[in-house]
Amino acid sequence: MPIPDIDSFNGLTSREVAEKLKNEGFNELPEAKKRSVAWIIFDVVHEPMFILLVAGGLIYFLLGDVSEGLMLMSFVVFIIAITVYQEQKTERALEALRNLASPRALVIRNGTHQRIPGREVVTGDLLILAEGDRVPADGVLLAATNISADESLLTGESVPVRKIAFREGMAVTRPGGDDQPWVFSGTLVVAGQGVAKVGSTGPHTEMGKIGTVLGTLERGETRLKKEISKIVRVIATTGLALCIIIVIVYGLTRGNWIEGFLAGITLAMAILPEEFPVVLTVFLALGAWRISLRNVLTRQVPAIETLGSATVLCVDKTGTLTENRMSIKRFYADGAMCDYNPAVANTVPDVCHELAEFAILACKKDPFDPMEKALLQLGAGEFGKTEHIHTGWSLVQEYPLSPGLLAMSNVWKSQGGSEFVIAAKGAPEAIFDLCHLSKNQMEELSGPIDAMASEGLRLLGIAKASFVRSDLPGEQHEFTFTFLGLVGFADPVRPQVREAVAECRSAGIRVVMITGDYPLTATNIARQIGLESPDTCITGSELDAMSAEELPGRIRSVGIFARVVPEQKLRIVNALKTAGEVVAMTGDGVNDAPALKSADIGIAMGGRGTDVAREASSLVLLDDNFTSIVAAVRLGRRIFDNLKKAMAYIISVHVPIAGMSLIPVLLNLPLVLLPVHIVFLELIIDPACSIVFESEKEEENVMRRPPRAPDEGLFTGKNLALSFLQGAVVLGVVLAIYSSALSRGLGEPEVRTLTFVTIVVANLCLILTNRSWSQSVITTLRTPNRAMVWVFSGTIICLALVLFVPALHNLFRFGSVPLADLLVCTIVGAGSVVWFECYKHWSITATESKN
Ligand code: ADP
Ligand code: MG
Repeated sequence: MPIPDIDSFNGLTSREVAEKLKNEGFNELPEAKKRSVAWIIFDVVHEPMFILLVAGGLIYFLLGDVSEGLMLMSFVVFIIAITVYQEQKTERALEALRNLASPRALVIRNGTHQRIPGREVVTGDLLILAEGDRVPADGVLLAATNISADESLLTGESVPVRKIAFREGMAVTRPGGDDQPWVFSGTLVVAGQGVAKVGSTGPHTEMGKIGTVLGTLERGETRLKKEISKIVRVIATTGLALCIIIVIVYGLTRGNWIEGFLAGITLAMAILPEEFPVVLTVFLALGAWRISLRNVLTRQVPAIETLGSATVLCVDKTGTLTENRMSIKRFYADGAMCDYNPAVANTVPDVCHELAEFAILACKKDPFDPMEKALLQLGAGEFGKTEHIHTGWSLVQEYPLSPGLLAMSNVWKSQGGSEFVIAAKGAPEAIFDLCHLSKNQMEELSGPIDAMASEGLRLLGIAKASFVRSDLPGEQHEFTFTFLGLVGFADPVRPQVREAVAECRSAGIRVVMITGDYPLTATNIARQIGLESPDTCITGSELDAMSAEELPGRIRSVGIFARVVPEQKLRIVNALKTAGEVVAMTGDGVNDAPALKSADIGIAMGGRGTDVAREASSLVLLDDNFTSIVAAVRLGRRIFDNLKKAMAYIISVHVPIAGMSLIPVLLNLPLVLLPVHIVFLELIIDPACSIVFESEKEEENVMRRPPRAPDEGLFTGKNLALSFLQGAVVLGVVLAIYSSALSRGLGEPEVRTLTFVTIVVANLCLILTNRSWSQSVITTLRTPNRAMVWVFSGTIICLALVLFVPALHNLFRFGSVPLADLLVCTIVGAGSVVWFECYKHWSITATESKN
């Protein structure tokens, strides 16, 4: 591959960029449908709850109860305000994620390489494009090496087109067609690399003209959503039927149809399950935001719910488990093993001079690879002062690494020299292959290789060759290489990985290491991080030889895949899935994309990952760190737990409210709940389920229990029954208060006061008890949650206001009751959840004795 001379490019200066950004605007398309406040209000106005409130208000006006009507109408405004606020918060969280997840661009500015967000690219910028990049703007290639692009987004043609560098006199063409220098925003570089100068950005690009917006965040229809829609449908239909019955019964028994409608509306408001979908959206959106604080971006929201059920984490060793900061530890040349430690002696022993010389020659000029960085650093130190560093030589050609041959070569031409000098480095086996070593020679080398690998060192073999003809061959195999020796690099394990692996184990999640490295190196690292089965290793070639029937069986217990190329990851993912696992898989390259897509949770590396890998993934790891994945799994489990708690609470709290709207009508007794009361209760319930439970901290045992079964939904039969039971007990208690008040001969307003206070207190206690299904209220009270404190103090203040401020008192149609009676209601209301606390205690002890 001839090397483009990109050193001569300097790019724009910061000042020019600032100027252009001001004049041209950001490189982005006008958002197709940004939800404006008007839209959100329009949506709210559509909501059945809203329509019910307005209808209730109108009926009050009809009845001549102006103040009640006004009260309901002001609630209407209040509810719109809350919803708009909530929606905007959710939208903003998603928007921020979208921006973070959008493609980035590598540009040359002020003479240096800079990685910037794609939206900050301006015309005249120099883009460095490489395999796996999305082109951020339209431009023309100034330099190109084997570059080809997938322009199907613009042309519909899925075969990639070849690109060449611009030459004088070339005319601008439309997307599509081979051998053109033009590159287009939104298309994908599938091979090669190049430098392009940006011609147009944002709406002026070809993509902008057709107005396609690349979706960077997919919401997706999730299983949870379907489950919730189902339950909402069931409740809503039952509710509607009950409402009709109520209106008819009321009308017939009491002869007042308008009031009958009011009672029907009250019941509808009491039953309407509008919290369910709201809670799901809010939890997932805020969940994505929470996870982003742990350096994990969510590209597909459903991944959050899958996280909690992951059973296997397949992770790349280099860079994810280790730091990907290589330092040279040993050289091996001519039968001599030499330690290298610049802190002790910054010199390379004489026997290893030629080895070091060619190792450096085999590096890229401006390397990204940490091994190459370490080698070039060696050249910059003491060793660089010897005659082994050739500053005057020019790099003529480069043979890159390929999945088939894990070795790369550089072809150099010395100043004035006639022959080419070739330096190769790569996996030891690949270098042996290039050098055509005999069986004996390889056996001799296996001693030092095993010694270095079992210390966890990463190994490179080094070889040299020369070539006199001028027609360089197409393959590295055609050179006659001489073996020079081995270099061993140390790559420290990231801090806290060991703890995170242990956490995974206690959480029933298996960690599988995938690496292109030597098996012994991988085994050593596996021991360092405490992997479950560090000695069970399958190599890439063993994997290839294994039949499709054998693999799922073997894969159940294996801890390491070594000498694996990215193409084999797909097979690993599929075999794991066949074995019934829920698989999370990390990846960074173009070749990783199929495996990332196929995994239940694809995780792309944000730091070194390509755009292709990011687009195939559901999560992006911003710091490439394994511990962040584990933190995300932990959060995923917590979010799911909290969703379950919120759902349980919503179900249980609706039972007494619906019951108290229904029973008095059916039994022809005084009504307790009117629309205002329902609204009052809703104003506690809504923030309780969407904020209090959302911010509830994780259960103590989140990472000490096995993953949730993938098909376990929010509502298991048992949980549903328990929630109903909670609600039924509260209803029973409220009815007891109600009937005793009636039998004491109290008037309707007094009965209403006592009953309502009981409902409100029981409601608060339901929140308390549902905060955890595995810890008692006494324990959870020690860790109050801020939202809960707000909701509780707000409720108590408002309750005091409606009880003791005469104007409000009348609006709520309350009577005066002695404080002692209120106290009794409070105690009895709180007592309604005591049984559930006992049940929790019993089930905790039962599970503890089982373990
Ligand atoms: P990993 O999965 O651990 O990141 P890679 O797939 O990056 O491993 O590399 C696999 C093997 O390819 C390495 O063990 C090494 O032998 C060889 N290799 C990787 N990068 C280079 C390079 N820049 N030059 C030569 N050989 C390399
Ligand atoms: Mg690598």
